[in-house]
Amino acid sequence: MSDVLALTRDLIARASVTPEDAGCQALIAGRLERVGFRVEHLRFGEVDNLWATHGDGGPTLVFLGHTDVVPPGDAADWTSPPFEPTERDGHLFGRGAADMKGSVAAMVLALEDFVVRHPAHSGRVGLLLTSDEEGPTNFDGVRKVAERFRATGDRIDWCVVGEPSSKSRLGDLIRVGRRGSLTGTLAVHGVQGHVAYPEKALNPIHAFAPALAALAAERWDEGNADFPPTSFQVSNINSGTGAANVIPAALRATMNFRYSTASTAGDLRARTEAILRAHGVDFALEWNVSGEPFLSPPGGRLREVAVAVCREASGVEPEQSTGGGTSDGRFIAPLGAEVVEIGPCNATIHKVDECVGIADLERLPALYGALCERLLAGGQAGTARGASAKA
Ligand SMILES: [Zn+2]
Repeated sequence: MSDVLALTRDLIARASVTPEDAGCQALIAGRLERVGFRVEHLRFGEVDNLWATHGDGGPTLVFLGHTDVVPPGDAADWTSPPFEPTERDGHLFGRGAADMKGSVAAMVLALEDFVVRHPAHSGRVGLLLTSDEEGPTNFDGVRKVAERFRATGDRIDWCVVGEPSSKSRLGDLIRVGRRGSLTGTLAVHGVQGHVAYPEKALNPIHAFAPALAALAAERWDEGNADFPPTSFQVSNINSGTGAANVIPAALRATMNFRYSTASTAGDLRARTEAILRAHGVDFALEWNVSGEPFLSPPGGRLREVAVAVCREASGVEPEQSTGGGTSDGRFIAPLGAEVVEIGPCNATIHKVDECVGIADLERLPALYGALCERLLAGGQAGTARGASAKA
């Protein structure tokens, strides 16, 4: 059995549903310490974070991942138990196989191999892991570690996130940025009354409907070379007392923007509020930005190297995408880092019978290793212990 398959199996067997880490990081820390990494365990609240680095000065290349997984749902729906790694049909099954314990294992193997073969590499390599990526708030995960980096002046130049990005073969798609996410929680104020006496009431549904039509029809921006146009969606709308003869006093709605770098959260907020005011809506609106958009610009060193490595791995020209939801990369990009996301196929993530192709998994350490080689191998190569060298 290959090292990366064995380590992925060990990680899947640890049932680390957010915010549990279930010993994954201790296992990884022990391995990296044996090959000379400095390791810090950063526990915030219920969340475990691991920060491991090797080398000093110069540019810093960080691999970013998470050891937590989403709940398996009803285990009886799985063909094999979600936390018992099982191989069949060329795939490894188990919760987290694709999102993203396979990537984490591949990062560990790549880093071990790289520092053994290049003990005096230039710059610094690091691994940052959290057990709070899949949770609802992510307050104590990479967000908090990034705040600490900002305070201490710890600098990251390049960040490779292991989120499963590929479509049908390893390396056929890399993420080079992500859209921002802006959520508005709206309360429309009305006056309750009898439906037979509308002149004595104010119907918040009637007040909001024309404004909603205008919001839904608005063209927020045209996008740009790297991003599709900003999208606006109402995800929840609630009003009414349940009675057929009562005009309700209030309406609540939740709206979300997925926005490109062609807009800012401030502009979108101001334009939304202006449309509501133009329609005479009496409202209160609370906003939350869960992630600003970020982009690794074309021509950036990491993006160029990542595209080349994925082209060689997949045999096709990799798609360079900013699609999908947000990732923890959103907390690292504002530190000034170039961020890309490269991982295995994402067809089964968060589903019953989640799996990763074993052939893809076994090629992933070499792909991550090639990024290390091209970005940081400049230093003197050490005694070659070969690709199979392990602590
Ligand atoms: Zn993930």
